[in-house]
Amino acid sequence: MLSAPLPDNRDGEIPEQVGDWELDLFEKHGREVISLIRGHFEKIRDVPVAVPRDPREQKSALEAELPEAGESFERVLADTREKVVPGLVQWNHPSFHAYFPTSASLPGVLAETLTAALNVNSMLWQTSPAASALELVVLRWLATMTGYPEDADGLLVTGASLANLYALAAARDHALDFDVRERGTGGPGAPTLRIYASDQAHSSVDKAAITLGTGLANVVKVPSDEEYRMRPDLLDEAIRHDLAAGFRPLAVVATVGTTAVGAADPLERIAEVCGRHGVWLHVDAAYGGLFRIAPSLAGALEDLAVGDSMVVNPQKTLFVPLDSTALYCRRRGALARTFRLVPEYLNSGHDGETSDFMDLSPQLGRGFRALKVWWVIRTFGRAGLASRLDRSVEMADWLRQCASRHFDWTCPAPSAYPLVCLRYEPEVVHADPRLSEARKREIIDALNARILRKVNASGTAFLSHAVIRDGYVLRLSIGNIRTVRDDVERVWHELNRIAEAELADLTGTTAWTGPA
Ligand SMILES: *Cc1c(COP(=O)(O)O)cnc(C)c1O
Repeated sequence: MLSAPLPDNRDGEIPEQVGDWELDLFEKHGREVISLIRGHFEKIRDVPVAVPRDPREQKSALEAELPEAGESFERVLADTREKVVPGLVQWNHPSFHAYFPTSASLPGVLAETLTAALNVNSMLWQTSPAASALELVVLRWLATMTGYPEDADGLLVTGASLANLYALAAARDHALDFDVRERGTGGPGAPTLRIYASDQAHSSVDKAAITLGTGLANVVKVPSDEEYRMRPDLLDEAIRHDLAAGFRPLAVVATVGTTAVGAADPLERIAEVCGRHGVWLHVDAAYGGLFRIAPSLAGALEDLAVGDSMVVNPQKTLFVPLDSTALYCRRRGALARTFRLVPEYLNSGHDGETSDFMDLSPQLGRGFRALKVWWVIRTFGRAGLASRLDRSVEMADWLRQCASRHFDWTCPAPSAYPLVCLRYEPEVVHADPRLSEARKREIIDALNARILRKVNASGTAFLSHAVIRDGYVLRLSIGNIRTVRDDVERVWHELNRIAEAELADLTGTTAWTGPA
């Protein structure tokens, strides 16, 4: 029996569905997208930073069957504009102050477009010569900016969490005197490894311990001092104790710009302890590292070069769109000793002159991240970036001053960086003789949590929080490239308005005095 004839598309009944857009169509839609972006930034102060949305409603607004036939791009773009963008948190909004601002500058936005057009995979030198060369250039620039040795090994990776993981993997292999790659970490005689970090370190250190099989029980949280900086004396004690008990230190992780309050661990003294015991020091400067270029902080920051490995996040502080993180290791060859593995199909006859970035991490296919970093640094210049960082520091200082002058606000844990922790502590709570100290703290914690919810729901600003020794604090990180003093003033007034209203609501209720 003859099989059914193949359908013949040539008579036009079924349009031929092959090939890409015509370039004229691309240019037309490209202009539409650029003008959408322009409109977005023109009106960004008029839109809410975030709108609380019912998850079910948001999902059903976007729910759709898999399209069988292609749709017009006009409709795709209209849905994006009407159904997607308004449901987003506007990370590029000048009043986005939650977590850490990762604002995208416009040269960075354009670079992402060109990067997608080139679609280069920079895994090997031979797959991406100029992209690999450019990655080396921007890594050297970022090293200069942060004071890290320029001849260190380095690469751009997807976020500081993964950078911490890769650095700790290299540190682990360095710490063990057998071939971990071959044998794995276990087996007879293998020591239990320990990672040391302050009680303020980023959760990605814990995640690295989970992923590396070290275990959370072996992440030693060294207490921090009253300014939330790791105590080097207690670090020393912990390492001595562990060595005596037969543990093997894998690494110490020091943080420059901690997540809750923006503290910086005392690097020099930690490096001394590491040197004494021969332990790898990894410096997680994801947030704080690039502030070294800001003249207002010159001298305030310690030398990052003491780290055997170090990470900084241009996606966080340098106006480069997500994602872009730089990982460095001044123990040359250590990353490659852990990660270099070349199957035949990737064998490109490495000549020693060139570098294959696939050798330095577990990632093979990797995007061309260097272009956006290069465009942003070149268009603003080191000095331009520095003055932008300075301006954020200034605005944060202004806000801290407002809070410390105000009777009802405190500014616990002041940071060198433009990360401001505020706590609303109204006098009337402190002055109420009926309330115990513990009750006062509860009320104030609850008030601050309500202020956060209200301000975020209002759409005027978006903040996050932290729980520190003083209790629950509002956390405002300033660093968006578009934020100006007026924006910060507006947020400050809004915070006061909401705080006073919340206080009035609470006074005299059972939430105040507690159940009778
Ligand atoms: C932001 C941050 C991280 C995590 O960075 P990602 O790029 O989001 O993975 C880790 N450590 C510190 C100190 C940070 O500030």
